[in-house]
Amino acid sequence: MPWVLRGLRDGIVTTGYPRRVDGYGAGFRGAVRVLEPEPDPSLTSGLPELCPTGAILVESAEARAVRIDRGRCILCGRCVGARPDLFAFDPLVEVATSSRRALVVPEEPDEDDEVRRIRVQLARRVRALRRSVHIRHLDAGSDGAEEAEIAALTGPIYDLERLGMFFTATPRHADVLLVTGTGTAGMADELRRTFEAMPDPKVVIACGTDATSGGLVGPSYSAGGGIAGLVPVDVFVPGSPPSPFSLLHGLLLAVGLLPVAGRSRC
Ligand code: SF4
Repeated sequence: MPWVLRGLRDGIVTTGYPRRVDGYGAGFRGAVRVLEPEPDPSLTSGLPELCPTGAILVESAEARAVRIDRGRCILCGRCVGARPDLFAFDPLVEVATSSRRALVVPEEPDEDDEVRRIRVQLARRVRALRRSVHIRHLDAGSDGAEEAEIAALTGPIYDLERLGMFFTATPRHADVLLVTGTGTAGMADELRRTFEAMPDPKVVIACGTDATSGGLVGPSYSAGGGIAGLVPVDVFVPGSPPSPFSLLHGLLLAVGLLPVAGRSRC
C-alpha cells in the first residue's frame, strides 16, 4: 500500500532528458567555471599550486589568461573554496566533448568550428547505431566511483533503455566501449583486445577524469595517464565521477543523437 501511495504522490520520476529539461541536474558539481578568465596578474599568483591535478592553467603575465582543464579536474573544490572570486561550480551537466582540447575552458576562439567538424564526422560514422546501441563497460583501473554512476543509469530515474541503449557483457555485440579508470598497465592488453573484438562502426568513450587524463594519479609507473594512448577515444566525459546526466550526454554524443549546435542544462 505505501508503494501505491508513493507512486500516486510522486508520479513519473524518470527524467525526460534529453527531450526536456528537468531539475535533477542542479544538485551536481558538473564542472568548474572560470569567472574571470583575464584577471589582473596580481590575482593569479599561486593559482596553479591550488590544484592537486594541475588542472588550473595560467598563461604568461602578459596574456593573463586563466583556464581550467576539465579533463584533469577531479571536482575537489579547492579552487572554488580558496578563490571564489575566480572560480565557481557550474551545475552544467553537458560536459562531454569529442575533442580533448575542448575540455580546456574558456575555449580557444577556433575551438568551436573544430569541435563541430569532429562531431559531424563522428555522427556520420555511427549513423547505423542510432536505434539500438549496445554498450560494453570496461574497468581499466577505476577507483569504483564511475561504476556507481554507471549503475544508476539503469535505474528508474535515468532509465537508459528508454533511449534504446543497453549494456552487453560481450564486446562482440557492442557498439560503444565505455572505459573507466586510468588505463593501467595491467589492463592495457585487455583494453586493446576488447576494442579489437568489437565490430565496426564502434565508438570509445573515456568515462571520467581518470580515463581522460589519469586524474589524481596522472601518468605514473603503472598507468599512462588516461586511455587515449591505448585506444582511439571518440568522446571524453570529464568529472570524478561524472554525473549520470553527463554520462547520458556522452553516450548521446557518441552515437550522434545530439544536435551539433546543442548546448543546454538540465
Ligand atoms: S576543483 Fe580541484 S581539481 Fe578541479 S580545478 Fe579546482 S582545485 Fe583543481
